[in-house]
Amino acid sequence: MERITLPEQSVPVRGTYDVVIAGGGPGGVPAAIAAARAGARVLLVERYGFLGGLATAGLVAPILAHTAHDSETPIVEGILREMTERMHAAGGAPQWRQACTEWGVRFDPESFKYVADRMVLESGVQILFHALVTDAVTGSEPDGRRVTHLLVESKSGREAVAAKTFVDATGDADVAFRAGARTVQGRAFDGAVESMGSFIHLGGIEGISAEQAERARERLEKEMEAGRIRFYGSGIASDLSIQPDHYALNRTRFAADPANVADLTAAEIEFREQAQRFVRFLRGQPGFDGVYLRATSAQGGPRESRQALGSYVLSGDDIVTGRKHDDAIARGSWWIDIHCPLGHTWPVHLCVVECPRAEACPFWAAEHESGMRSRNSLAPPAGDWYDIPYRCLVPDGVENVLVTGRCISATHEGMAGARVMGTCMAIGEAAGVAAAFAAASDGRCRDLEAEEVRTRLSAGGALV
Ligand SMILES: Cc1cc2nc3c(=O)[nH]c(=O)nc-3n(C[C@H](O)[C@H](O)[C@H](O)COP(=O)(O)OP(=O)(O)OC[C@H]3O[C@@H](n4cnc5c(N)ncnc54)[C@H](O)[C@@H]3O)c2cc1C
Repeated sequence: MERITLPEQSVPVRGTYDVVIAGGGPGGVPAAIAAARAGARVLLVERYGFLGGLATAGLVAPILAHTAHDSETPIVEGILREMTERMHAAGGAPQWRQACTEWGVRFDPESFKYVADRMVLESGVQILFHALVTDAVTGSEPDGRRVTHLLVESKSGREAVAAKTFVDATGDADVAFRAGARTVQGRAFDGAVESMGSFIHLGGIEGISAEQAERARERLEKEMEAGRIRFYGSGIASDLSIQPDHYALNRTRFAADPANVADLTAAEIEFREQAQRFVRFLRGQPGFDGVYLRATSAQGGPRESRQALGSYVLSGDDIVTGRKHDDAIARGSWWIDIHCPLGHTWPVHLCVVECPRAEACPFWAAEHESGMRSRNSLAPPAGDWYDIPYRCLVPDGVENVLVTGRCISATHEGMAGARVMGTCMAIGEAAGVAAAFAAASDGRCRDLEAEEVRTRLSAGGALV
């Protein structure tokens, strides 16, 4: 690729903070709230004009892994519970107790946006919307790198923000990567990441009977078998949403590298194509003639991209054994839920030995004797969970950066469980507390006593 050299440039420093959080998704919102509640002066920088990340921009729902595996016992409370209760008061989520009897916390994305705004602002955080973090400026240290500023591009131009500690909540480890931390991507075998996906909301569903939905489902399977619709699942009537007036469907799949802009572009175009094909198909089915496409998500969703590696790497074994750690700062219960990294759709569902395309898959051929898992060996024991150690939040190679949400230190299999939003929110709360504590000393995150973070989290209602 041709390259150009930019002239040296002086950039205005917009502000100096204790903690700057890059990204306002499920990993970033609780981090901002928790850091501010722990006494830090916090700036939250978000590229969109609202908070929530994939919970809002991706229309992703429900919030999973709030309870232990196969159980109604909560394993995440703290800020997730507070947000759920505030959304419930606004008519946008069930009561917490009710949510614990369901497989995820259903919620209305507009309630999420509003409640996140309120809770973040009430905690004293300053928000910068429509601002993309583009780079990290580092100064050197004898034993690693220290980030001094993040560069932010917006309608106001290029600016810098300074802080003692930075939290990378971009989902893609943008900050850690730009700061020179050790990042990896995808499965060890070939670097392929889980496929991207998107949500589709369908309106005009009133009056569709269960029998009609079932008949449409059977016909959809034929469309998928013929390759005319590339979905990975066939259920049409869905209960993912809090509102009964639409179906919220999570069905598309596209093999792409979410850290590559050409792949992201191709994914968005494919997702809209699939949504339109699906609606055209549905309108021909009895009972579905009034159906319309109410919304597609503002962004296609990455399930996995860069992981910033630390001194502990969460693995598939941690998940299935329900492993516990002394430096636990969050809990997860979601299983090794790998959406085919090759982007195969129906009838392929998960990357397991039983995959119907397994024999023709190079990964299966290479790994099935040693590493491939069977469908029955993907989850923690019933009633149990796995811990997320603090070490997964501290990337190697930078001193004053923590990672949260989807980009913590994990293998492909580990991230396939820890990526869900309940776990990301619990990790985020811990990252915020730790960032505030680190900023109150010398900003170095590695040297923090995890026990101090755990004590503060418990005092705030988090389960650790
Ligand atoms: C198709 C699909 C279905 C899923 N289904 C579920 C489900 O049913 N339940 C569940 O719990 N989880 C589900 N997940 C997983 C979950 O949505 C994500 O793993 C989770 O949202 C990750 O949270 P995060 O905060 O790390 O990242 P994100 O949600 O991606 O949030 C990152 C935030 O940072 C911002 N940002 C990114 N880069 C920058 C930058 N450089 N500068 C400024 N801002 C930036 C983004 O705009 C965004 O607001 C699904 C994911 C996908 C893709």
